[in-house]
Amino acid sequence: MKTIGILGGMSWVSSLHYYKWLNELAQDRLGPINNSKILLSSVDWQKIQTHQKNGEWDAAGDYLADEARKLESIGAELMLIGTNTMHKVADRVQAAINIPLLHIADATATRIKTKGLDSIALLGTSYTMEQDFYKGRLENQGITVLTPKRQEDRNRINAIIFDELCQNVQKPKSKAEYIRIANDMFDHGAQGLIMGCTEITTLIGPGDFTQPVFDTTRIHVEEAFEMALEEE
Ligand code: GLU
Repeated sequence: MKTIGILGGMSWVSSLHYYKWLNELAQDRLGPINNSKILLSSVDWQKIQTHQKNGEWDAAGDYLADEARKLESIGAELMLIGTNTMHKVADRVQAAINIPLLHIADATATRIKTKGLDSIALLGTSYTMEQDFYKGRLENQGITVLTPKRQEDRNRINAIIFDELCQNVQKPKSKAEYIRIANDMFDHGAQGLIMGCTEITTLIGPGDFTQPVFDTTRIHVEEAFEMALEEE
């Protein structure tokens, strides 16, 4: 199996899931004493957040590109960026390495299309919900993306990610707000929900909705695992 490079620590809470689920898949598929081969760079997330707040995306991209190059130099054969938001700089990271980067939005789009859906609700950070790098990528693949209509709802979703989920805090009140806001988008025509932030998996899940739910963390892990098993 190929060695999977992960740019993680954005936040560590989601990196836990990448590590756990990649290894559980290896156990299930390859046998009980098997691991996935993983090289994880847990980056300086405070630095990344500062760049995000200041809109210094090129600097953030250069930093992640450097980390990706390091992982490639010690044996990574495919690369993951373990956050939806930082896919804003995915092209910069891919340009710095000679191994494939599995884009989290592409992996998710494939699942959505396999289900035959074409209109989908998106919850994520404000960067992910409001900027074009993520929504646009899905829309280019024929998927209509709905985000919460009200600015205050988008702000709340974002604040819960950074102030709670990324610090491994899950509150029932926040879960209720996520469910309310998702249901509102279903009422406006969304056929399913993208959990478009890698920590949302700690708060809500498929059991909270009757509509299909696309957990980007889980999807990214599963697709990466399959890619790692592919022959050269
Ligand atoms: N992990 C989150 C995401 O998937 C947010 C943290 C970040 O800003 O990278 O977007």
